[in-house]
Formats: sequence, structure tokens, C-alpha cells
Amino acid sequence: MNPFLAAVMGTLLHLKRKCPKCKREQIVKKDQKDKTVPCKFCGAKIPPKK
Ligand SMILES: [Zn+2]
Repeated sequence: MNPFLAAVMGTLLHLKRKCPKCKREQIVKKDQKDKTVPCKFCGAKIPPKK
């Protein structure tokens, strides 16, 4: 895999979050990666990964 693609995918994985309530996955914005975000499907709060 080329380094650029690997970097993009790494970023996406890092920004991917799974809702603890509805179990759906979603991508959060880069500037929200260290913040608790509301699930866009059910509105539950999703804490950042440690
Ligand atoms: Zn949810």
C-alpha cells in the first residue's frame, strides 16, 4: 500500500467511533477527535478513544 493511502486510512480509523448505544459506526470531525461527540443516529454521547 502506498504511504499516502496508509496515512489516510490511519486517520479515518482513528476518527471512527462506535456508538455505545446503537452500535453504529461513524466518522467524527478531526477537531472533535479528543472530544465527546453526540451520535448522529441516536444522539447518545460517544466518548473519545483513549
Ligand atoms: Zn447511537
